[in-house]
Amino acid sequence: MTDDIRASLNLRPIINVSGTMTSLGASISPPEVVRAVAAVLPQFVEIDALQKQASQVIARLCGAEAGFVTASCSAGISVAVAGAMTGSDLAAIERLPDTTGLKNEVLILSGHMVAYGAPVAQGIALTGAKVVPVGQATSARRYHLEGAITERTAAAVYVVSHHTVQYGLIPLDEFCAVCNARGMPVIVDAASEYDLKGFLAQGAAVALYSAHKFLGGPTAGIVAGRKDLVRAAYLQNGGVGRGMKVGKEGMVGTIAALEAWERRDHDGIRARETEYLDLWLRTLADRPGVTATRVPDPTHNPLDRIRVEIDPAQAHITAWDLADALASGPQPVIVRDHEIEHGYFYMDPCNLHPGQEHVVAARLSEELGKARASNEVIATPLERRRNRREETARTWPD
Ligand SMILES: *Cc1c(COP(=O)(O)O)cnc(C)c1O
Repeated sequence: MTDDIRASLNLRPIINVSGTMTSLGASISPPEVVRAVAAVLPQFVEIDALQKQASQVIARLCGAEAGFVTASCSAGISVAVAGAMTGSDLAAIERLPDTTGLKNEVLILSGHMVAYGAPVAQGIALTGAKVVPVGQATSARRYHLEGAITERTAAAVYVVSHHTVQYGLIPLDEFCAVCNARGMPVIVDAASEYDLKGFLAQGAAVALYSAHKFLGGPTAGIVAGRKDLVRAAYLQNGGVGRGMKVGKEGMVGTIAALEAWERRDHDGIRARETEYLDLWLRTLADRPGVTATRVPDPTHNPLDRIRVEIDPAQAHITAWDLADALASGPQPVIVRDHEIEHGYFYMDPCNLHPGQEHVVAARLSEELGKARASNEVIATPLERRRNRREETARTWPD
């Protein structure tokens, strides 16, 4: 890559095989998005008219009645929940987070009370809503949901994500059937899901997406769904949503990203990603203490990853020390390490510039070769690594 802006900002030229991570800059935007953002920045626009354009594109791609662009998917959770409580009552919108006189209970399965960098429940609660957990972490049936609904229930939030418990929970279609029979809107957090139409089609009233994840848009969130609820959520820009507003560049970039998604050669991209995975599997084959396996995406996005399992006795390094070694040096490779305590990490192929797959393969060979040649097993206590990360966060910007 020539004219890489990162050098002038004193930033490391990282290669991301971790996935669409906010902490790494989320995703790589296609040229159409870059051009659209650059084209609108020097112009004035009428924001409500631009959001109306966004509504039409979102409606087409998501099979929704209407939609708009907000700051992020987590902003979408807050404004959609707020909208479900206030409707289009402008006075109520200005009063939040005081919910006096409004239905203010919001249901969420206990197994969905996860964090994506911040807690989902916090995104609900900061509107003034009362979070009502449904069922147990690994068990939520129809009767749990029916029993949790009261005359104060405003909405239910359902999270579709690899972060959530993946068994024992009521499926979305049944969840929607129960809620819809009681006239209660279901808001689906589908931040990272490729399926733009399926959740509304299963009966959800609102579906929320991140523009900056698989879509490759600028940092923004997409709110799609039933027109009255989308409007009520949009009106929160005059209330608790003000700090979550998105600018013209976010709106135009999201429209461009959705249109690019519509035209994208999805099979071609899948084939290219498969080539990367095959290369890495070949690189990792027949190495002592290394087991590499292709695994499908847990929520059925059309995406496979490689799981790299490390036996420290044979490889002479732990999975986390290997992850840290890969992330160091002049060509840092960042792997997907959120399950690293099990002794494995993942490699995600969807955020690479062409050619970087070879750098990744070379870095794997280099670090595994170095470790194998070492006389001692490189094994930092996991707790020390965790503490170091927390310390780094706590002492920022030092
Ligand atoms: C990433 C993510 C979010 C947050 O999305 P942002 O657009 O970055 O705010 C919310 N929910 C889930 C399930 C996510 O994966």
